[in-house]
Amino acid sequence: MPTSPALPFGPGPGGAPVLHGQRCTWCGHVSFPRQPYGCEECGSPDTEPHDLPGTGVVHAAATVHRHPDPRVPVPYTVVSVLLDDGPLVRGACATPTPVGTRVRPHLDTADPDRPQLLFTPAP
Ligand SMILES: [Zn+2]
Repeated sequence: MPTSPALPFGPGPGGAPVLHGQRCTWCGHVSFPRQPYGCEECGSPDTEPHDLPGTGVVHAAATVHRHPDPRVPVPYTVVSVLLDDGPLVRGACATPTPVGTRVRPHLDTADPDRPQLLFTPAP
């Protein structure tokens, strides 16, 4: 059974960010993040690491205009992204991003102790 990395995302080959997911070796289901209990679809304990490019389409969005921590810049948009590989993941966009927008992941390392995964509109 695979072990989860410290962060569920990181730089992949060529520096583009990837999401550390898993693929079931029984049914082929792809999920994110990796789960220690196995496949969330069929329950098999046999999964293998599977890095996802993180590209997809915004499925739902909500823009935040106020945040209790004044250090957090607003506005930003919380999004649910339906990844091209199947999983639905939640993340944030630095700019208002409407439903239906194609996005790709961006690794924000401004604070090296707390890298953040953001989504940006894909060109
Ligand atoms: Zn499965």
